[in-house]
Amino acid sequence: MPDVDFAGKCVLVTGAASGIGRAAAIEFAARGARVVLGDLDEAGGEETARIVRRGAGEALFVRVDVSRDADVAALIAAGAERYGRIDCAFNNAGIEEEGQRLADCSEATFDRVLGVNLKGVWLCMKHEIAHMLPKGGGAIVNTASVAALIGAPNQSAYAASKHGVVGLTKTAALEYGRDGIRVNAVCPGVIRTPMMDRGIARRPEIEQLIPRLHPIGRAGEAAEVAAAAVWLASDAASFVTGHALAVDGGLTAI
Ligand code: NAP
Repeated sequence: MPDVDFAGKCVLVTGAASGIGRAAAIEFAARGARVVLGDLDEAGGEETARIVRRGAGEALFVRVDVSRDADVAALIAAGAERYGRIDCAFNNAGIEEEGQRLADCSEATFDRVLGVNLKGVWLCMKHEIAHMLPKGGGAIVNTASVAALIGAPNQSAYAASKHGVVGLTKTAALEYGRDGIRVNAVCPGVIRTPMMDRGIARRPEIEQLIPRLHPIGRAGEAAEVAAAAVWLASDAASFVTGHALAVDGGLTAI
């Protein structure tokens, strides 16, 4: 059976300065991958790179705004130059939406959320696939959300962006399956990260709701989403593509 082993492979992770992205970068590196870390947050990204190196891994941090084509192209070029090729990518950078009903959501908010969460994933996939095609294949995992599978009241832009991520994931899986490129998504429930902390700071009552939302009775940990992303990117998932995997403590099973 194929192993969850990344020895000799290079993995790109966006949103790597914090939360799920940092946990995934550490987990990929622990399994032997050299990691290329992209994020807007330079201090956090460099700190993730230091954590990986302290564990005897190899890491390169590149500041990137995933909503900008030139930035994404430069990230992939820098990774390819340093490590020769990029075998896998975890397109995870994303932003939340401050809650309001759809009619109260401004055009600027809609454009900002879609720009990072949807266009950012599209740009990353566009450049990653162009890089992977001549190398004979690769594996891509995108971070969506439970808000990609069900509606999310007061999060219309966020839900639209994450439903879009699943649409991109499935479409790319169909288009590039025969080229050896697998494309999947993870759909996290509420996960303990700085993003969750900001949500609770805005609406403290959410904290009481979180255990009730998840049949498992608690929020998830970043490492639990990272483990799913690592498995989907690995050869152990060699027959899995076009899948949106809920990592949600049962939230969407209700
Ligand atoms: P996080 O702790 O806020 O980490 C997100 C990282 O992405 C931050 O370092 C952030 O930098 C970076 N980022 C934001 N915009 C960027 C851009 N334009 N270009 C590059 N990097 C950018 O959040 P997280 O909880 O780990 O979230 C990771 C992913 O999981 C997101 O896609 C999120 O939507 C998804 N998700 C999270 C949850 C949850 O409950 N935490 C649930 C479902 C899905 P700055 O700090 O500088 O903005």
